Amino acid sequence: MPVTYTCSACGFVLYRGTRPKSYEDVCKQWGYVCPVCMSALEVPGKSIKWKFNP
Ligand SMILES: [Zn+2]
Repeated sequence: MPVTYTCSACGFVLYRGTRPKSYEDVCKQWGYVCPVCMSALEVPGKSIKWKFNP
């Protein structure tokens, strides 16, 4: 099932794909900082939003 992780501050799509990825992996991929608004990516559900795309 496709899943999308977005920055909750600016809406930048941090990850989109069918492979399940953990918050940890998504954060690590961007160095724990949103590349667009530079806000820290730490707290799941707060700094990162995710949703399934059926
Ligand atoms: Zn952002």
